[in-house]
Amino acid sequence: MSEEKKHVEKPAVETADEKIKRLTLENLQAEKEAKALELEERKYHIQSLKSSIADRQLQDKQLEYDRQSKQKTFAQADATDQFNWKVCTHRKGGMASARDIRCLTRGGNDAGQYAVIKHQMINGDIWVRCQRCSRTWMPPVEKNFYMRNGVSVAPQDGVFDADLFKRAQRDYEEAVNFPTRNSMSGSVQCRFFKYDRETGKQIDGAEQYRENIASSNLR
Ligand SMILES: [Zn+2]
Repeated sequence: MSEEKKHVEKPAVETADEKIKRLTLENLQAEKEAKALELEERKYHIQSLKSSIADRQLQDKQLEYDRQSKQKTFAQADATDQFNWKVCTHRKGGMASARDIRCLTRGGNDAGQYAVIKHQMINGDIWVRCQRCSRTWMPPVEKNFYMRNGVSVAPQDGVFDADLFKRAQRDYEEAVNFPTRNSMSGSVQCRFFKYDRETGKQIDGAEQYRENIASSNLR
C-alpha cells in the first residue's frame, strides 16, 4: 500500500464533522491494513506448516525405510545363524586342510568330545557356547516364547508356545551335559534380592537376572 493512501488529506481548516469523517476513514484504513497483514501472516503460517508437515512425512518415510532394511538385515543374519547352528556338530576333531576348513565352522567328528565352553554366570546359571558355530545355549525364559506368525514377540502380542519352550529346555539340558575336556569358566557367584514395592517381599534376583540377559549370547 502506498504512502499517500495511508493518510487522509487534512484540510487547512477542519470542522468537527470533517474531523470525525477523517478519523473514521483513517480508522477504516488502519483496520483494512491490519486485516491484510493478518491474512499475509496466516498465509506464511500455513506455508510453513505445510513445509514442516512435508519434512515430517519425509522423515517418517526415511525412518520406516531404515526400520525395514534393518529388519531385513537382522532376519538374514538370523537365518544364517539358524542354518550354521543346524549343520554344526558342535564337536571337536575333524581335519582342516587348505582346501577344506569346514570343520572349523561346522564342527568335527569326535564322538566323545564337544567343542563347547561352559560358563557359569553370576547367578549360577550355566551357559554353553559352541566354539565352532558360536551357538549359545542358556536356560530358556518363558517371555521369549510368545510367538506370532512364527516370530518371537512381546508377551502381550503373541501366544505362548509350550512345545517350543520344552524343546528349548531339552536342547539346553543336552548342551549342559555335552561331554568336554574344556573346563568350565565362571564368574563370582552372587545371590541378589530385590525389594518389591507392591508386595513388600524380597524377590530372588537370579531369575530376574536370567530374564534380563536372556536376549544376549556368548559370541
Ligand atoms: Zn556348533
